[in-house]
Amino acid sequence: VISDATIDLLVCEDESELREALRRSFEREGHRVVTVPDGRSAVDRASTQHFDVLLLDVGLGPGSPDGYEVCRELRTRRNPVAVIMLTARDSEADAVLGLEAGADDYIVKPFRPAELRSRIRAVLRRSGGHALSAGVLTIGPITLDATKREVRRHDEPVQLTFSEFELLRALMARPGILFNRQELLRSIWGDSAYRDPRGIDVHIRHLREKLEESPEEPRLILTVRGAGYRFREP
Ligand code: CA
Repeated sequence: VISDATIDLLVCEDESELREALRRSFEREGHRVVTVPDGRSAVDRASTQHFDVLLLDVGLGPGSPDGYEVCRELRTRRNPVAVIMLTARDSEADAVLGLEAGADDYIVKPFRPAELRSRIRAVLRRSGGHALSAGVLTIGPITLDATKREVRRHDEPVQLTFSEFELLRALMARPGILFNRQELLRSIWGDSAYRDPRGIDVHIRHLREKLEESPEEPRLILTVRGAGYRFREP
């Protein structure tokens, strides 16, 4: 069981057998599930209805945009739905591509139901406002409100994905402190099992693109060569 509360799931999977199996198993737990067979329908549904989580297959068959394109399109539209990519290929390159596209996490097929549920729980925990550190952090031009889950740069709202938000929160909560990639993975997921630490570099780059004056010469999120990252001191 994922959660006591009813959650809204969108499942985008072209294989009808897996699609229906996912629907049945989540509906049995009392959740609301919408399924779509292709990428176009996923973008349309997610743009007109709220979902907590999108389970997004990478390979969606001929004629459909693939999962990466769907994810990129949703992020371009500033859709904050938590995205978990379902990838058939057991390759770190594919996983990184998914994170590049703005996904929060990925799971390699075939996966155990328990593993999928644990991934979903993790993204829900982060989106459900169970703030580790409530309150407002301000450093330089950046303000992070953990309760409202809101980030502003020069008082202009910035749209972050769940992973980006958690990463920024961890860094800003202890400015000047060096975090290695494993520690940052744990700050997002609670554990770092099965995850490629290089995924952190992708999230950091996205954060810099959204927050830094000049992402090539970061002044806020600093690289400590060979060690990790730290947020500048106030
Ligand atoms: Ca597929």
